[in-house]
Amino acid sequence: MKIAFIGLGNMGGPMARNLLKAGHELVVFDVVQRNVEALTAVGAAGAASAKLAASQAELVITMLPSSPHVKSVYLGESGVLAGLAGGIPLIDSSTIDPHTARDVAAAAHAHGNPMADAPVSGGTGGAEAGTLTFMVGAEPALFERIRPILGSMGKNIVHCGGAGTGQVAKICNNMLLGISMIGVAEAMSLGVALGIDAKVLAGIINTSSGRCWSSDTYNPYPGVMENVPAARGYSGGFGTDLMLKDLGLATDAAKQAKQPVAMGAMAQQLYQLWSSRGGGAKDFSAIIDLLKITPAGGGVP
Ligand code: NAD
Repeated sequence: MKIAFIGLGNMGGPMARNLLKAGHELVVFDVVQRNVEALTAVGAAGAASAKLAASQAELVITMLPSSPHVKSVYLGESGVLAGLAGGIPLIDSSTIDPHTARDVAAAAHAHGNPMADAPVSGGTGGAEAGTLTFMVGAEPALFERIRPILGSMGKNIVHCGGAGTGQVAKICNNMLLGISMIGVAEAMSLGVALGIDAKVLAGIINTSSGRCWSSDTYNPYPGVMENVPAARGYSGGFGTDLMLKDLGLATDAAKQAKQPVAMGAMAQQLYQLWSSRGGGAKDFSAIIDLLKITPAGGGVP
């Protein structure tokens, strides 16, 4: 299949490479020329705009930073819809707010193009290995049509419902993850401050009712687990600023739905504080450093 791929960053670059490996023909565009060159060096054709890339393709995939980028890439003057014949399907895999996803899908639909939101989880490691989870908001017929293509970039391809529901699933999961990480960080810090060994406490939690992914797979307390960011100074992993972006999407969407998310809003504020103290580029589990009592009695590093 001839696919236009737009947005070749940390996630889009490796996803596009996996489509090439699966035998698809690619025409690519990114505002950063060296990202385009990295793909043309391995067999993709480059295009000078999103419009020109889309006009040559049988399917369009985008992987962009946030909602304003998605709006301008689809609806702008040299955007995807401006150059597109009716009937060509569109997939946006960026993480954005569900309202924008639905608005852009409605504009595409009015233009005669079916559109799916298909945000991912699995991070850059999953993008490279082709093991991403795709959460797809689309009409059932479109979902069946795009499932094999997504299967070249991911392992779990889940149909969540109509337009926007992929984004809903993504932001609800990440809001819960952000909250649970703070909960585990608090419990671990309290236990150690009261005199229990961190490994012993984690073992109890992980066989008791407090167990969750943040405690048994990604424990934030140093020395409890190997091969997690806490074991390497919180480098790599899922950056605090990316978690902060997803919590912002969740709390904004909650505001529009008039749905209370007291814990989500609290979590958003705590990650914001941690980011403002210089923790933005560290893995999000480093938020525990806001809570641990230091030997100097400071509390905040
Ligand atoms: P990134 O910033 O590395 O890549 C985005 C790319 O889009 C960049 O190459 C940028 O130059 C390009 N771009 C920006 N504006 C453009 C435009 N107008 N036209 C064409 N290209 C444009 O970001 P990323 O880490 O690849 O993340 C992409 C999306 O995936 C984000 O929405 C992010 O929240 C989500 N996501 C990221 C991760 C992760 O671990 N990095 C995990 C899951 C989901």
